Amino acid sequence: MNKIYENDSYIKECDTVITDVQTTDDGTYISLRDSIFFPKEGGQYADTGCVTLGAYEFEILDGQIENHSSDSVVDITNNNANHSSSLPDGIWYRIDFSGSYKKQNAKLPALSDILVTNSEIRCFLDYDKRYDRMQNHTGEHILTGTVHNDYGYNNVGFHLSDDGLVTLDLDGPLTYEQIMEEEAKANSVVYSNLSIKASYPSKEELKDIEYRSKIEIEGQVRLITIGDDDNPVDICACCAPHVARTGEVGIIKVISIVNWKGGVRIGILCGRRALEYINHRQDIIMGLTGLMTTNEDNLLSRVRGQMEEIKELKAKLSGALESDIVSRIEKGDSDIERTHLVFTDADFPAAPMKNIYNVLKSRYPGYVGIFAGSDTEGYRYLAGSKDIDSKSLIPILNKIGAKGGGSSDMIQGRVNASKSDIERLFTGIKHA
Ligand SMILES: [Zn+2]
Repeated sequence: MNKIYENDSYIKECDTVITDVQTTDDGTYISLRDSIFFPKEGGQYADTGCVTLGAYEFEILDGQIENHSSDSVVDITNNNANHSSSLPDGIWYRIDFSGSYKKQNAKLPALSDILVTNSEIRCFLDYDKRYDRMQNHTGEHILTGTVHNDYGYNNVGFHLSDDGLVTLDLDGPLTYEQIMEEEAKANSVVYSNLSIKASYPSKEELKDIEYRSKIEIEGQVRLITIGDDDNPVDICACCAPHVARTGEVGIIKVISIVNWKGGVRIGILCGRRALEYINHRQDIIMGLTGLMTTNEDNLLSRVRGQMEEIKELKAKLSGALESDIVSRIEKGDSDIERTHLVFTDADFPAAPMKNIYNVLKSRYPGYVGIFAGSDTEGYRYLAGSKDIDSKSLIPILNKIGAKGGGSSDMIQGRVNASKSDIERLFTGIKHA
């Protein structure tokens, strides 16, 4: 097959001929004389697009390489779920009627009746998706290249998904500051607008060339060189389509850094995908500055100030709630006098609950308790007694499904029961 995508990554349309058709459990596959569709390979998903044959319109859903004689094709996209090993060696494209064509035509012929060997077709690449991948893949080469030049590390796991981050796994440690320095260097390579070329050296020539991803590959090795041949920024063995000049990458932005197997996994975004990410973040920041009625520069200190204020207000509120309940106890509130229990809201803080428990305990003999919650949500509780071992209350509370534990002074836990059931249980104990 003539791999047009390898020689010119900017070709969006071509006329060609179907060289074979295979029907498997996964669907219908075609092979082509010439192709603008990059198949799934080397950490990158397959190109998608559209094919026309006469009045018929089809969709290229996937593309894959079959090579049964060799295990050297390493697919790190982990997307082998639909991989059909029943296909002969070669490059295969999974194809179906396009969605719009299906909609227009209620009664469709069998694919195998139309898609036959030697059919002349016209191919259209989903170029926006491809260009986004080209920007991000080239950006990955540039950043990995600068890291390799400075630290000698390699990218041992590359993943280019269509939504979310492009990840590269570097096989050595880097600090945040070191990565930011490499990001700046990589972006300088973008500004320099260097050329990016593919070459196909012979086995003999390869021996004398220093390049990344130098592993034994069966067949022809394709090298991607960034910069001048006599002073390249990076050379890497790679099968995927790239942009022609580094300036097209636009921006290389490191978004995430996590330690990974003794090295570091870096998530990046380049080109249009980075712009969309920045726009999304900008929307969030604009929303926040509006809410906090401040500008971007003061946003962090404003949020910190508000959090501090909330903390103080919560402390004040909890003090007020506590003294309100304590004064009810001291005034001899009839419900509390009758049950020796206090009921309060679900969001009642833990510290005043403990204080109220102690006030109840010193005032009343027998079991006392404080329950925070509602009949529908259930209750958190602190309970016990000053003159009986508090732990003796555990089996009693278990009768209404309570969970918890504690010491002789106090037990605590949760119970999903109604207020009246809890009151009945406690008053029942006292009268027994
Ligand atoms: Zn690559």
